[in-house]
Amino acid sequence: MEYRCVKCGFRIKTLFVQYSPGNIRLMKCENCRAVADEYIECEIMILLIDLILHKPQAYRHLLYNVLNSETVNLQMLKDVVLGNVMFLGVFLHASRILLNTSAGASRFKDFLLAVLISSYFKIFLLAMMVWNFPSSVIYIIDLFVLSSNTVALKVITESAMNRILGVCLVAHAVKFFVVQGLELRYLRY
Ligand SMILES: [Zn+2]
Repeated sequence: MEYRCVKCGFRIKTLFVQYSPGNIRLMKCENCRAVADEYIECEIMILLIDLILHKPQAYRHLLYNVLNSETVNLQMLKDVVLGNVMFLGVFLHASRILLNTSAGASRFKDFLLAVLISSYFKIFLLAMMVWNFPSSVIYIIDLFVLSSNTVALKVITESAMNRILGVCLVAHAVKFFVVQGLELRYLRY
């Protein structure tokens, strides 16, 4: 498996040599002579900030040196996508029924925008795929997304709070059971 120098993108066999636990030496790039990937020793927040700042080095680190076909379970990615498609479908459908809103194209776009914007907490799930956090963090993130979706929907529809909470809970519950169902399937095979 090959890695890349985050500065110039040159291929490199290993990014660091480990002498003992916690004692590593970062490798230098043969092409540009810089440390190939200094993010290995950085805090997660520094990487996140550099990603937000659109620094190519941060993206090279994430795409080539962290997220590659060997470390990311592609089946998990498919489940995440499927779970989110189900969520969006149920969310839009339940919004229409429970909130008595018309299904016009512009209204649809409003809902889509609200749910996407208010799901920004999911960016932390990306961090979870890369670094090992306790799985309880997933539920905390889900709760934040749920409450954030609720506020966004309330602002857009100005409907009663219990109806909005109903829509969000139904959508999140469906997603939850879809994901749980898929995980059970793995246990069987
Ligand atoms: Zn280089």
